Amino acid sequence: MNALVIDRELWTTSGEALLEDAVALRRAIHAEPELGLDCPKTTAKIKRALEGLPLELREGPSTTGLVAILRGPQNGRTVLLRGDMDALPLREDTGLEFCSQVEGAMHACGHDTHVAMLVGAARALCAQRDRLNGTVVFMFQPGEEGWHGAKYMLEDGLLDDPRPDAAFALHISPNMPAGMFASRTGPLLASADEFEITITGKGGHGAMPHETIDPVPIAAEIVLALQTLVSRKTPPNESAVITVGKIESGTTDNVIPETATLLGTIRTLDERIRTLLHQGIERVATHVALAHAAKAEVEISPGFPVTVCDGRIVALAERTAMALFGEDAWRTMPTPMMGAEDFAYVLQQMPGAMAFLGAVPEGGDYHSCCGLHSNRMVLDERVMARGVAMHCAMAEAFLNGEAVV
Ligand SMILES: [Zn+2]
Ligand SMILES: [Zn+2]
Repeated sequence: MNALVIDRELWTTSGEALLEDAVALRRAIHAEPELGLDCPKTTAKIKRALEGLPLELREGPSTTGLVAILRGPQNGRTVLLRGDMDALPLREDTGLEFCSQVEGAMHACGHDTHVAMLVGAARALCAQRDRLNGTVVFMFQPGEEGWHGAKYMLEDGLLDDPRPDAAFALHISPNMPAGMFASRTGPLLASADEFEITITGKGGHGAMPHETIDPVPIAAEIVLALQTLVSRKTPPNESAVITVGKIESGTTDNVIPETATLLGTIRTLDERIRTLLHQGIERVATHVALAHAAKAEVEISPGFPVTVCDGRIVALAERTAMALFGEDAWRTMPTPMMGAEDFAYVLQQMPGAMAFLGAVPEGGDYHSCCGLHSNRMVLDERVMARGVAMHCAMAEAFLNGEAVV
């Protein structure tokens, strides 16, 4: 393996120097979280932080996402760095001094840190513009938490010109040692689809079930039967999850309702298995209902595709993390995770990778501390210095011709 052409000292020092600003920006965004595709206050904070930099900004029309383009003196390759912006609809219970001031919204997935790190990287790379052998595209995207923000930004043509040759993103995680990076080649995260099953029977008196078609036991039977799609239909060496997260039926103890609904999620790492489960859910639900003279209607809403990392960009991330912070700073993940990411849409269109960045809070145990999406999730903000340096060094290395794609 040849030595990486990056300036280790420059980027680690830049990351440290920008940490204070990154913490301030992260805290401001944390205190004022926004949901979905419409995050105007967050966009305004980003624009303020980027003011005066030699960036070309692009926005709209479908989201409040922002693309900032930095052109180096050379017309070389183009690399995309991405940070997501949106929060989650839950109440924060961390007790942090900068905790959410918005009832029912919290940055529990750390996207506030992603924005802060990407702004830091933009500032550091702008300061070193003259040494860049190409173009850096900074993608600030809202609507990651199930809103397909990346897909809308792609459809809006925000990444068409210049077309990036590769993409890189970081996701913070309290469940890893602070400052460690991790990823893997191939599937990193799962596809995530939502399904809703409506079972229609015939309502009536709770004491006279024989005169009704009770949808409740049918719903229960379907919940169990769906699990055999994972245990009996999915090849044992493949991964799949079917979770029924919500069951709804009835109003009181002595009335048999007419309908029951099931709401659930489907996770896979492979398009073939994804199709197999879609077809299986439809088949099992309708036929179990039919066996009891009821009717089941199945609606499947396709969500994020599988997040697939390109081996060349993962290898570059590994070498970059090690060059910046030593051998211990990288871990290759043995298996994917069954969570999902809408960065998957970007990776469908260009080779790239997402890496996790460990941020277990000081004194915490990364095995047992509150994870992403928890109302008590806290992070070690100091790792943002490493995130900034990693973004910058990845961009520099790729523009210098590393990771031929
Ligand atoms: Zn999340
Ligand atoms: Zn996230």
